[in-house]
Amino acid sequence: MQANYLRNLDLVIRKIERARLSYSPHHIVSLIAVSKYVSIQEITALYECGQRAFGENKIQDFKSKAQALESLPLQWHMIGSLQENKINALIDLNPVLLHSLDSLKLALALQKRLETKNTKMHALLQLNTSFESSKSGVFPQDAHVLYQEIQAQCPNIIMEGIMTIGAHSNDYKKIEQSFVLAKDVFDSLSGVGARTLSMGMSDDFEIAIACGANMVRIGSRLFQI
Ligand SMILES: *Cc1c(COP(=O)(O)O)cnc(C)c1O
Repeated sequence: MQANYLRNLDLVIRKIERARLSYSPHHIVSLIAVSKYVSIQEITALYECGQRAFGENKIQDFKSKAQALESLPLQWHMIGSLQENKINALIDLNPVLLHSLDSLKLALALQKRLETKNTKMHALLQLNTSFESSKSGVFPQDAHVLYQEIQAQCPNIIMEGIMTIGAHSNDYKKIEQSFVLAKDVFDSLSGVGARTLSMGMSDDFEIAIACGANMVRIGSRLFQI
């Protein structure tokens, strides 16, 4: 397992490196290892290869893995849809970043709980840039106003930027188009503090970086045997 993971991680890092250098030598990309398909043994193995940041998409799995791995200095990211009844559990897990804030209603519910618990959370606004009905997220045309509404109404949520999932397609152009839409929204929010653009997964992270992603979320490619 370890040898495969070392090879996977090395290959992914080299590809990230190549993509970010051709974007700009000053561009830095962080790698989130999406551990939703694997157990604590696999997470530990990748940690021992040098990976620190991990992403989970379900509160229940996040909780059991984070608790089991409490002794390791891991950074946890919440990347999946958040139901309102799971907000308290998420706050207690204290993720470094919530990638999937996707409505004012959810933001207000989160704000209320954060205020009660007297704590803060860093978050990204999730965009639906592929216009696929199966995907969550706000449409790009609504994002700018919503982002600032959340900032104005939710002082305990620290808005860090934008997240999107690329179009599910074999057509390079369609995937690229979804990332370009997210980059445009991201740029329009740079004046109000947006600095993280989370996009790119196992099959499309190089396209995402070419479009300006500075955080990629990679699962299957890192954990394949
Ligand atoms: C599963 C998942 C990923 C990683 O997907 P892979 O194709 O396994 O790299 C990234 N982001 C989100 C939101 C996911 O749900």
